[in-house]
Amino acid sequence: MKIHDISFAVSEKTVTWDNTEQGFSKVWTSELGNLGASCNVSVLTTGTHTGTHLDAPLHFIPEGMSLDALDLSTLVGPAQVVEIFGRDQVTSADLEGAGITWGTVRVLLKTDNTRLRRKDNPHFDSGYVGLAPSGAQWLASHGIRLVGIDYLSIGPYGPMNTETHKIVLGAGMVVVETLVLDNIAPGKYTLIALPPKFQGLEGSPCRALLIEGEIT
Ligand SMILES: [Zn+2]
Repeated sequence: MKIHDISFAVSEKTVTWDNTEQGFSKVWTSELGNLGASCNVSVLTTGTHTGTHLDAPLHFIPEGMSLDALDLSTLVGPAQVVEIFGRDQVTSADLEGAGITWGTVRVLLKTDNTRLRRKDNPHFDSGYVGLAPSGAQWLASHGIRLVGIDYLSIGPYGPMNTETHKIVLGAGMVVVETLVLDNIAPGKYTLIALPPKFQGLEGSPCRALLIEGEIT
């Protein structure tokens, strides 16, 4: 069994959506070395879409489920990583030819975002590869329950971003964004992508892992 950490190491410098969303920060409210302090305690502030994170249906669907209401069996289980290179958007035709095997319900898209190391750029890159609405429809019609991608958003930049999100989240899918797939070969793994149990959130940072081989 090999555990691959596919989570982005978040810091104050981590890129945020359009360079405008609030990112990560931490303040010590008690710090060892300061007079009277017996321990370290901090307060964390973070945008819910910072670093590797989940989108719940509530992100775009008014009555959609929040993260704490999701079935955990969506967030843990077999997943297939597929490589789709040389495309500006991932379309239904790309997915049709990607070799996604029958019965797969979790798909992680490894695109030129990874090859070009876009997630490591501290400035937002609106030219990233996203899932076209046709690709979103393809996933919905093939019973996919979770889709992941290697940049900050599942949908391409611009008006299609909302369209793609509404299709996947409207179909009840969970989205995992800003995946670190640099060292991940295409194929089958066990995915674990769990958020903290905070109530009512439309999104949340998560720790995402791919396990290779049998869990022992
Ligand atoms: Zn998001």
